[in-house]
Amino acid sequence: MKKWMVVPILIVALLLGLPNHATATETAKNDTVYVAGNPDLFPFEYYDTQLGSYQGILPELYKQISQTTGLEFVYIHPGMINQQNRLAKNGQVDLVSAYVRGEIEAAERELILLRYDGNTEICVAFTAITPGWVEEAIRSSLENLSAQQVLELSLRVPKPQPEQKLYWWAGIIGGVLLLIIAVLAAVLLWHRKARKKNDKIRFIDPLTGIGNQSYFENTFRHCITPANYALYYLSYISLDVQRIEQYLGILKAEEIQRYAADVLSQTAADEDFTARIGDGVFLLALQAPSEEAASIRVSEILEQLNRYEGTFLEEHRILFRAGVFGIDTANLPAETAVFNARQGYNAAAHNHCSYIFTDKALLNREATKIELQRKLLGALENHEFLLYMQLIVDRNERIIGAEALTRWQSREKGLLSPGAFIEPLKSAGLIDKLDFYILEETCKQLEQWSLTGKEHLWMSCNFTRLTVSRNDFAERFQNVLERYQFPHDCLIIELTEDSLMDNTTVAYRNILECKKMGCKIALDDLGSGYSSLQDLCDYPIDIIKIDRHILLKSTTTRGNALLQGLTKLGHDLDIKVLCEGVESETEKQRVCEAGCDYIQGFYYSRVLPRDEADLFYMRKQNA
Ligand code: C2E
Ligand code: CA
Ligand code: CA
Repeated sequence: MKKWMVVPILIVALLLGLPNHATATETAKNDTVYVAGNPDLFPFEYYDTQLGSYQGILPELYKQISQTTGLEFVYIHPGMINQQNRLAKNGQVDLVSAYVRGEIEAAERELILLRYDGNTEICVAFTAITPGWVEEAIRSSLENLSAQQVLELSLRVPKPQPEQKLYWWAGIIGGVLLLIIAVLAAVLLWHRKARKKNDKIRFIDPLTGIGNQSYFENTFRHCITPANYALYYLSYISLDVQRIEQYLGILKAEEIQRYAADVLSQTAADEDFTARIGDGVFLLALQAPSEEAASIRVSEILEQLNRYEGTFLEEHRILFRAGVFGIDTANLPAETAVFNARQGYNAAAHNHCSYIFTDKALLNREATKIELQRKLLGALENHEFLLYMQLIVDRNERIIGAEALTRWQSREKGLLSPGAFIEPLKSAGLIDKLDFYILEETCKQLEQWSLTGKEHLWMSCNFTRLTVSRNDFAERFQNVLERYQFPHDCLIIELTEDSLMDNTTVAYRNILECKKMGCKIALDDLGSGYSSLQDLCDYPIDIIKIDRHILLKSTTTRGNALLQGLTKLGHDLDIKVLCEGVESETEKQRVCEAGCDYIQGFYYSRVLPRDEADLFYMRKQNA
């Protein structure tokens, strides 16, 4: 209980317990009463450091008693240290003033002033040296006090200055603390709410509203236990989003993915869980009693997914496929399960089938591929890739340039053609390294030609769509160009049609940058792969390279019309036309009749190492 709260209680206690009449005890003698005061029992008695004296109800009372009895009350050893016990014990005082009963061992003949708070009693006590008449006079004065008198006294008691300050500061500090606590509580509450919300956000894929990768990994850890892992099959379900974006636009690609998310969440049973972990990539962990049952479910789901807009998808060969991995180990990390399921998906995509279960053989093949990728990285670092060239002639069979074609001088397997390394480099994300390495070698060659009077010869260099779509492409390209001296219009960038498909905006910007640097652009393999004649309109193409497939077809009337038509189309668009894969005199004649400007093929030149290509050129010049 706070000391200041005692006042009203005291009043009540006095009203109830003390006689309600006052009779001043008469004493004729004028004597001194030595008092041991309590420096710290506000409001009864306390030592006021500022005033340098005891204050409180009892000192006030003593003043009144003094007036009626003539007794003089003198406090011994005033100060903030409570000396009541010592003074009483030593018999140095007559009166032990204001203490809580039980606190002063040496107190004799106690007079209880009041009780409060159940069993706390405020007392005064007399000592061995107190004269009987003094005791009597004080007792009767105290016992005969009226409640009214006490009330008046208590109101007169000033609050102790130091204590007041303490309370004031305590009030401020308490207030500030309360405020801090309130703010902390609010922050905590907000933080919890925010965390809950963040947790939600953390686990939700914003595009589709189903779980994301974190959700999947978390759920995988909790739901797939050593007791049930054998029942779970993980399906990695995906589609070529980039192609959808190219053909149908980003909005359509998003719509298809939302549709897929709906299908997956609707078909998922209670113990299954699904998530979207990347652009066009979904996971579905499903329980099935056997591989056969899992197979049925996956094919049904794929059928439903591919039903989206029916034939429309069929037309563009945009399909959801899946790789399925039966979890075969307890405590398998989610990452490994996803990796394994993805290998099945890759195989399904590669083999153009709906889904494939990942088995040990498949994983071994993948491991071999990964090993190959590791070796390729080593090969890039060791400069094992070599610049080879195939010379190109004009209609008059004059050598006008060459295409840069790469060979890998493998330490283990000897000289390898691009078929052995381009795809692995692409899937390892290393193809840009090769493309830029060959660009550098090409620039070296062009500089050398320029220095040896062959500055009219040009060279074309292949870039994959992955490289051209990179944000840093133009900068890296310029850095290489700046290191070599040659006429920039002798450098031709060969792009396959699909190089313009991925990340079209970036690729387009990059191509324009290269044009600004003075280079020329060739559209490679026209007539194979994905045809997009529109690119001829949209991109600043300087040369088209008609694929050998068209040449092979040109033996028929229609095929020949196609060859001639494409050539004319090129010329109408002010684009030069090159025909690739010319192997014979008849093919050469057909190409020339069609009006092609340039010819490339084994009929004129094999793919040669750099030095041999130079010698070949010299011989032709001198012939
Ligand atoms: P491509 O750009 O279409 O290159 C022409 C390919 O046709 C070369 O195959 C060449 O050897 C082959 N060829 C040339 N003349 C004839 C012919 O008369 N008949 C037949 N049947 N084939 C002929 P290669 O050297 O095996 O290159 C294959 C592909 O690898 C190239 O096709 C090109 O797309 C790619 N490639 C080569 N080097 C690089 C490179 O440094 N970077 C990138 N990204 N791709 C490269
Ligand atoms: Ca090419
Ligand atoms: Ca080609």
